Amino acid sequence: MSSINNKFDMLRLYFDSLPTPVSVLDENGFYLYCNEAFYESFLKTSYKPFSLLGKRNSDLIDESTAKIFDSNHHLAQKLGGTQCFEESIKHPNGEHDYWLSLKKPVLIYNGKNCLIISVFINITQRKLNEKKLGLDIFDQNNQLFLNYIYANQSLNYLDQGSKLIPKSISDQFAQESLLSCLKRFDFKDEKSIMLMRELLEITLLNFPGNIYVKDDELRLKFINLNLVRDLGIEKPSDIINKTSEDFLPADVALPLKEDDLKVMASNQLFSFEEPVTLNGEERCYLSFKKSINNPYDKGKLLVGISVDYTIQKQLDTNIKQAINSQNLNQKAKESFITNISHDIRTPITGMLGLISEIKKELTQHPELENKITTLESLTKEFLNFFNSILESVENKDSVVAKKVNSICNVRNIVNSSIALFKPSIMYQEVSLNALIANDVPNHLIGNEKVIKRIVINVLGNAIKFSHKGEVKIIVTYDKTKAYLNIIVSDQGIGISEADSHKIFERFTKLDLSPNSQYKGSGLGLFIVKKYIDLLGGTISVKSKLGKGSTFSIKLPMKEADNNVLSKVSGADEFQSEVDLIVNKEEKILIVEDNKLASLALKNMIEMFGFQVLVVETGKKAFEALETNDFKCLFLDIGLPDQSGMDVLLELKKNVQYKALPVVMLSGDITKENDLFCIKNGATAVYTKPIQKDQVKNIFLKLEEKKSKNIN
Ligand code: ADP
Repeated sequence: MSSINNKFDMLRLYFDSLPTPVSVLDENGFYLYCNEAFYESFLKTSYKPFSLLGKRNSDLIDESTAKIFDSNHHLAQKLGGTQCFEESIKHPNGEHDYWLSLKKPVLIYNGKNCLIISVFINITQRKLNEKKLGLDIFDQNNQLFLNYIYANQSLNYLDQGSKLIPKSISDQFAQESLLSCLKRFDFKDEKSIMLMRELLEITLLNFPGNIYVKDDELRLKFINLNLVRDLGIEKPSDIINKTSEDFLPADVALPLKEDDLKVMASNQLFSFEEPVTLNGEERCYLSFKKSINNPYDKGKLLVGISVDYTIQKQLDTNIKQAINSQNLNQKAKESFITNISHDIRTPITGMLGLISEIKKELTQHPELENKITTLESLTKEFLNFFNSILESVENKDSVVAKKVNSICNVRNIVNSSIALFKPSIMYQEVSLNALIANDVPNHLIGNEKVIKRIVINVLGNAIKFSHKGEVKIIVTYDKTKAYLNIIVSDQGIGISEADSHKIFERFTKLDLSPNSQYKGSGLGLFIVKKYIDLLGGTISVKSKLGKGSTFSIKLPMKEADNNVLSKVSGADEFQSEVDLIVNKEEKILIVEDNKLASLALKNMIEMFGFQVLVVETGKKAFEALETNDFKCLFLDIGLPDQSGMDVLLELKKNVQYKALPVVMLSGDITKENDLFCIKNGATAVYTKPIQKDQVKNIFLKLEEKKSKNIN
């Protein structure tokens, strides 16, 4: 009894400590035995020996996953040999683990009973990478993906294990199934222990892939039949107390030994990719190894599994390469967008500046004034159109949208939007009205710039798609839920029910005829929806063809308390109606190499009454600073001699110029640049072209700060 017990305990120890999940099921899909890792890593439950005996997949995992596992189980049985499957399991927290499972059917007792041995290797990282690449291998529920099978030639043989079963127990199987035998036994008497022992031995010997157990001198204690064959020896017992070096050439054995020594020195689970040349063919083995205490001896044991991972390794490499090139493509796309936005926005800014310069001189020529005004509005339209295209392809503005810790005045947003559209409805039979409930707080926490974009887009559509009737914007505030409600309604052409869900998609225009009277890019509502999603809000539409449309927007916005109000800083947080009182002696320095852009800004600043000096390089800026006192500096980031950011750093390092307010300008502000400038003392950062009200706000802020300092 004791020797049977000893062998049983030893086999159980080997089996239970196999370093990746292993299960043994019978031909009907009933669980017979599983190792610790199967409970802990695969099922994510704690290990309870024998507790899975007689259970089926459907008792352990959700129904649809169980069905897939069962069908793979049957397929492996039908095909014979070792088969590979990819299987996924969803955990209660919603996360998926992805496993490569090697399944091998082993016939016992005259081919009547069959064990299916499965070993699982975690491939979650690769599957997630595949998903990132958009490879179409997941089904809708993320459950089953490419359920591919490849016959592993080198392992493809069916084991006739019946000779391993002692006669007495085999006789039992002749009468009843292995499962019912095991279920009936209590693992205390000799018979049941013997039966279980044989089951473990058959499984370990016929294991798909290679398994081995070594002592702390790295002498082999156990190997399975696969490894026996790979090493070219006769039977498992031939290796007892030998080391890998006795069977393998030194250049293969020594690196393996190094790995083994690492494992022995630690209690952790290790995985290694081990290249091995087998019959002149280069293969890659993936090995899992861990060390355990040897209860029969004082030392330790190393338990390892190695599976042929050659095809998988190739897959991993291909996918990693694809991810890398996707990242490179993404970077190339981002820098293309950055460059193009800079290259286009800068000359347009200049054009607008030049137009306003020409307009000033055209008071004597009314016929030209009309033309130049049209040119101006066309240029502005082009800039808006270009901005909206960029917004739809870049993510940069999402960062802007997320910055919500600023003060937002909803009345300002509505009033300035209405003012914007008033001229365009002068010749339409459309009236435009706004209603803001009295209890809408004056100051909410939100991103005024982004919310204004949302309002302008939706209101602009309502006007564009109406020939008559009333366009109305109604704003209310739900104090208990802290939600701002914006409703924009019109009595225009309306949208059919079938089309109403399409309109938030990119490039959707319901009237696609080239001569359509409704101009537009089909991007407005796509951007609106993107912004609203980022702000955590919702937008919905109710509409009837020919009757009109109502867009309802809900935005979560908290009321700003006094505490927050006093803390807020930055140049564009709120618009002020206060007029700017200018000391005409004060000078402003513009550092900008683009002549048109600097002329536009110079004109704008001069209109407020300041004196303006323009220089084109960082070096000239410092020369100008030596001989002049400036109220403020407008600094372009892309200068010819050095970066505007370096100029900023130099200024802030110098005690003489440290306090000088610096407004940074760029054709394209990236999140990193924005943060960098603010962190290094810039007063504000703007994308070109900077608008008149933004410039005015900067000066108002500077005045406010000055008067605070004086008081
Ligand atoms: P566009 O630049 O074409 O206006 P949007 O994304 O803003 O792009 O709108 C997409 C489409 O949705 C429009 O082309 C139009 O067909 C429809 N649409 C949007 N708002 C309205 C509205 N108020 N009334 C009728 N149709 C509208």
